[in-house]
Amino acid sequence: MYKQILSQFLDALLPRRCVGCLRYDTWACDDCVAASQRRHQTTLPESSVLSIQTLGPYHDPFWRHSIELLKFRGIKEVAIPLGLALAEYIDELDTSFDNAIIIPMPLHPRRVCERGYNQATLLSEIISQSLDIPLLDNLLVRIKSTRAQAQISNPIERFNNVSKAFSLNDQIRAERVLAGKTVYLIDDVVTTGATALAAVKVLQKAGVRKIELYAVARGS
Ligand SMILES: [Zn+2]
Repeated sequence: MYKQILSQFLDALLPRRCVGCLRYDTWACDDCVAASQRRHQTTLPESSVLSIQTLGPYHDPFWRHSIELLKFRGIKEVAIPLGLALAEYIDELDTSFDNAIIIPMPLHPRRVCERGYNQATLLSEIISQSLDIPLLDNLLVRIKSTRAQAQISNPIERFNNVSKAFSLNDQIRAERVLAGKTVYLIDDVVTTGATALAAVKVLQKAGVRKIELYAVARGS
């Protein structure tokens, strides 16, 4: 833990350099963000209300290194260029945000405690400010700590790993706030979408009309 804090502290003192082209003064420059995008859109067969949009593949070193800085090295500033790129994507696909709400994919409280923040919340804050869509950060909660989906190959095990992982901390308030809404669910990486699907089931119970998952990268 202390080693992690120390390394995060030392990283924060490093001069900013773009993970793509090594240009100074930024962690992810506009040119590399634009050039690295391989946007991808899909709908899960299991859920007609959920569509998944990603900026690029996780195996692309640019996206992988950006996410590693954000998630594991405490460099929260990377959320700015990544969040802006997601906001631009949302803005291009949708024209009206009157009925929309942004919800970050929640982390288990223990993980938030270890890391000090939820990277999906940082991305969501940038998108919320950029598109003027309200952000709801405390309604959908993670009640079960799960293993990384990418580490599990068996589909049934994957499903069991995430089922009942989410809950609403206030069902009545959730129904009041979410009924009939479009929710933009924000995450850093999406792999199979099974985790998102578990969150979708909980949100649907509160009357959400449509859910769009936007993530920086898609894993394999
Ligand atoms: Zn660059």
